[in-house]
Amino acid sequence: MALPPSPQEPSRRQTIKRLTFLALRVGLALALAVFIWQIKLDYLESYFYDLRVRLRPAPETSGHVVLVMIDPMTVEKLKGAPTLSYHADFLKKIKSAKVNSLLYDLKVPDLKGDLKEAKQFADEAQNFPQFFVLTDALEMRGEEGKLKLNPPFEKIQLFSGPKSSDRANFAKDGVTRRLLISYQNQIMAHPYLASQFNPDIIHREKIRGHFEFFDTEQTYINFRPTGSYPAYSFVDVIEGQVPLEKLKDKIVIVGRDLALSEDEYILTPYSRDVVAMTTAEMHANMIDTLILNNSPKKSKEIWNLIFTIVISLITVHVVFSMRPTRGLLVIAATGGVYALVAFFAFWPMGIWISMAHPVIAIFLCYYFFIPYRLIIENRRSWEYYQRNQLLKQVEELKTNFISMMSHDLKTPIARIQGMTDVILKGSTALSSEQREAVDSIRQSNDDLLKFINSILNYAKIESQGVQLHLQSKDVNVILKEVVRKHEFLARVKKIKVTCELEPLFPIAMDPELIRQVLSNLVENAIKYSSDETEIKISSSEKDGFIFLKVKDQGPGISSDDLPNIFMKFFRSQNAKSSPIKGSGLGLYLAQYFTELHKGKIEVESTVGVGSTFTVALPLATNMVTSPS
Ligand code: ADP
Repeated sequence: MALPPSPQEPSRRQTIKRLTFLALRVGLALALAVFIWQIKLDYLESYFYDLRVRLRPAPETSGHVVLVMIDPMTVEKLKGAPTLSYHADFLKKIKSAKVNSLLYDLKVPDLKGDLKEAKQFADEAQNFPQFFVLTDALEMRGEEGKLKLNPPFEKIQLFSGPKSSDRANFAKDGVTRRLLISYQNQIMAHPYLASQFNPDIIHREKIRGHFEFFDTEQTYINFRPTGSYPAYSFVDVIEGQVPLEKLKDKIVIVGRDLALSEDEYILTPYSRDVVAMTTAEMHANMIDTLILNNSPKKSKEIWNLIFTIVISLITVHVVFSMRPTRGLLVIAATGGVYALVAFFAFWPMGIWISMAHPVIAIFLCYYFFIPYRLIIENRRSWEYYQRNQLLKQVEELKTNFISMMSHDLKTPIARIQGMTDVILKGSTALSSEQREAVDSIRQSNDDLLKFINSILNYAKIESQGVQLHLQSKDVNVILKEVVRKHEFLARVKKIKVTCELEPLFPIAMDPELIRQVLSNLVENAIKYSSDETEIKISSSEKDGFIFLKVKDQGPGISSDDLPNIFMKFFRSQNAKSSPIKGSGLGLYLAQYFTELHKGKIEVESTVGVGSTFTVALPLATNMVTSPS
């Protein structure tokens, strides 16, 4: 028997408990978020940064920068690295090209050649407008002008334009990501050269992504993949195979690509291969970033904190209030959406939103709180188990009590039945009033007996005590018995009961249980139908089943009640408010007993027209029969 649901109104104490728990969660999520936020995660952050650089479409170049490379072909054709006299030739050759500026990304003192060649080169270089030799060296305040090459190159202009790589600071992974705008307020080569094409950046604070670090001003390089800049072989230029108009008005950078030393190359966000990109191409990227003034701009730290807190709160909420699979999906979706936002902020807007802290927040919050959730779940399921055990015991107690009571009631009922029989059949003449009274006692006693029998059957089912006593029987015989038993009841209400029974083979069944099923249906049909209606009872055989139908012209069953009528103790509102008696167990038992025979019971009903109950019993059952 089901226990009545206990009303679970949230009490004040429960609300306070829930609020405390919520506050505790929020507090823990906040604490964890702040803890994660202050951890330095530059390495991971840079990794996510590189990923975004690689995934976005490669940015356009400005078209103002051109490379001239001393490459293996140059060495092969010139039978060695170009000497100073070749370089002097080169300068002479491209002087007429009217380049915007010429940058030497070479160590001039290391270039081979005798003194005469050196002087020749120095002369050409001095007279070349906008000729600079790039150097990684920096002049400190007070040292201005001291950065010089040794004679005979002392008049050549050295310009600081250092290569940068994240070795000691930032990601510490050796990748070049930044460029120097100024050092101790002295402008570096890149912004100076870029300002020829973009005068705006003379005001350094206008450079996008500009930030200060120690005594420097820096920004991030908007990298293009290796090979994005037009590059000509040094030998091709001196042999006149490169049309000089290609160099006109360009910033020409002369560099080396001989794979002789790591110094010639840098690691880039695109690749961490040792020869990922030549330093000459790196300078091209640096200058171009400034010409186009499109450095990636890092979002403010406060945003990083806010995102980390939001992600932590979501993760903690998910861990505590969702089922594991759904929770994982929501967390994955949150991570995915955040990654997409970060990506689309980076491209096309060029805004660098931190990803490392929020990602770590997801993992830490998840792994930190999952064990806690498991403990809670465990405790809860233990409580459920205990409560379940208790409920089971109570249920058993109730069933036992009901069956005991019902059983004990049967004896006095039988006695009343016997006594009324004695009175009715006795020799003493009864007045009509007395006979009516005894009849009424008899009728009520019958009702009580039926009720008690139903309860006893129910108690049996609940304690799993119903067993089939199978016999081979013709179901028509049982049907006829049932009809005969209810003839009197039908006659009282002037209800016509007709039977259309097809001849059937005997099947294996428990006759007592099937009798109860059919009795319940026929009794209901008579009970709920109005006077002078008709009930049709039929039996037939089809597709391996015997179909037993009880069709009445009663009130019918509303579509709201229809799904519930086989539930234990269910009585429709109409039935409850009518004088028709019932326990609400008849159809429940009918269905239970039918299904015990591997059969089915179904109902079709139209309000105001009538109901048809159909019992289908399988012809061949795999149930063992006992001899009748
Ligand atoms: P009861 O003891 O109330 O008859 P049942 O389990 O036999 O319990 O039936 C459950 C409910 O189904 C009844 O209360 C009644 O509302 C409805 N019902 C059953 N049979 C019929 C019928 N032939 N016609 C109309 N309503 C019916």
